[in-house]
Amino acid sequence: MKKYSKFLKKKSLTIFLFHGVIDRNPFKIRNYTKKHLLKEDFIKVLNDLETKGRCISLDEVYLTMKKKKKFKDFSYCITFDDGFYNNFKIAAPILKKKKLFATFYITTNFIDKNEMSWIDKIEQMVEKIKFVKLIYIFNKKFKIQNTHKSKIRFLNSVRRHAKKSKTNFEQLVSSIKSQIGYNDKLSNLNNILDKKMNWSQVKKLNKSKYFSIGGHTINHTILSFLNFEDVKKEIANSIYTIKKKTNIKVEHYSYPEGLKHTYGKREINLLKKNGIKICPSAEFGINTNKQNLFNLKRIFVN
Ligand SMILES: [Zn+2]
Repeated sequence: MKKYSKFLKKKSLTIFLFHGVIDRNPFKIRNYTKKHLLKEDFIKVLNDLETKGRCISLDEVYLTMKKKKKFKDFSYCITFDDGFYNNFKIAAPILKKKKLFATFYITTNFIDKNEMSWIDKIEQMVEKIKFVKLIYIFNKKFKIQNTHKSKIRFLNSVRRHAKKSKTNFEQLVSSIKSQIGYNDKLSNLNNILDKKMNWSQVKKLNKSKYFSIGGHTINHTILSFLNFEDVKKEIANSIYTIKKKTNIKVEHYSYPEGLKHTYGKREINLLKKNGIKICPSAEFGINTNKQNLFNLKRIFVN
């Protein structure tokens, strides 16, 4: 496992971005990006960070930056995006035992309907491919063979294309589905990579003084791709839904995908209007107190 403690710096804040922690991976292709860490690797990462770092909550980050104070040496935060059940089941007990702070950003439709992200749906379909398939998407022809290499090459191209152009993710999923003739279901799956938390588990997490809950939109779409009315809905309704279901006053948020082109002034203003205090991106980097509360950088752990 990489030593993430090398990203801890003097008078700086390093925010780590996790998605999931699993006991074992029951799939061959899925999770090839390692967005879900094996439990033993997760513990190794934490042990390494603990030797040098000082884990703080994002509320402390907010207060430090508001007061224009410098961060203490080797400060770091732990964050989880999307709302996977394995956060509750596997990661949270480990964090609690180690007395480490963490923020969990949840996508409300994932919690409400045990829904999957567009890329998880595509990975699931590609996993199951047994014969050569030709697919036309992004005005291009893709050939997928029943090999590890070919499937991963295809998934990497889909990721690249979908994130740079204004993609309708729902259409992309259904287009691939019909072209390869996929008949199994693509939501409400209960394996360890797809199952999401339910509302009572979200509430339970929030009860711990070490944990906080943040928003991550309703549908996990890229906000900058949407028109103004839809962005307003994604932000305001996700915050309202969390409040309604759990009585949590939401002050934390993270942008889906989180790269530079996925959010801007429009999104930041809407978040502020809806009571959000702090919202990290997924751009790679380490923060000083000069950083803006809505542009904080994170480091993806995989
Ligand atoms: Zn996400």
